[in-house]
Amino acid sequence: MRSEDRVKSGAVVLPQSSILDPRSSAMSHTLFISDLHLGAGHPRSLAAFQRFIATLAPQAEALYILGDLFEYWAGDDHRHDPFHARVINALHELAARGIKIYLMHGNRDLLMGAELAQAAGATLLADPTLLDLYGAPTLLSHGDKLCTGDIEYQKFRAQVHSPEFQKNFLAQPLAARKAYIEQLRQQSTSAKQNKDSAIMDVNDDAVAALLREYRYPRLIHGHTHRPDRHEHVVDGHRCERWVLSDWDQQASALRCDAQGCAAVSF
Ligand code: MN
Repeated sequence: MRSEDRVKSGAVVLPQSSILDPRSSAMSHTLFISDLHLGAGHPRSLAAFQRFIATLAPQAEALYILGDLFEYWAGDDHRHDPFHARVINALHELAARGIKIYLMHGNRDLLMGAELAQAAGATLLADPTLLDLYGAPTLLSHGDKLCTGDIEYQKFRAQVHSPEFQKNFLAQPLAARKAYIEQLRQQSTSAKQNKDSAIMDVNDDAVAALLREYRYPRLIHGHTHRPDRHEHVVDGHRCERWVLSDWDQQASALRCDAQGCAAVSF
């Protein structure tokens, strides 16, 4: 019995040793990033993003950007800003190499539209989106909608997501839109300082309800800047929840393949 066990455990080691095989880096995989907050005045983040696009991203078959790619997005005419143009060009070059790019709205860039997507060679995604990721049902979301403890924010979110609000807002000149958002951001920064950090995280009941609605998938989201892997047991189903990192201190992505997911820093 003992020697059989050893044979069995030896067999288990095989997939790990295959990691040393240089060909395994070419194994089909998908990358997920969010909360880069790219904007003028943050040249380091742009450099990290350009490095990511040149090195790590081309090895993946797809790149999913789950919101807050930009510090803020005032409308698709904002794409002509020279800083934004560099971000868009980097994405377009990646798309031209055959990597599929998907863009989900965050709370900062919820006005990203079809013109930006086309310029970047990307496809816009609804929030949430359910994906078959190498056989594992995987639900993607920005994550802000799950922060139901922050009632003030959810009220604001409902307002800015209304089509009428967006239509009226986008009818204003770009300069006025930018000034309005800048002012909102200052208010939000000071409001955050007075908020309990618990209400700015996702709410467990909201997570459970979402997992139940989508029949217990794996969940990947960003927004909270609390990168981690969690497990939720919902109706007896064990679901993993990956929270993506922001890029403020360290650039990081989540890499998923048929074996599972892992965070990669670079
Ligand atoms: Mn966010």
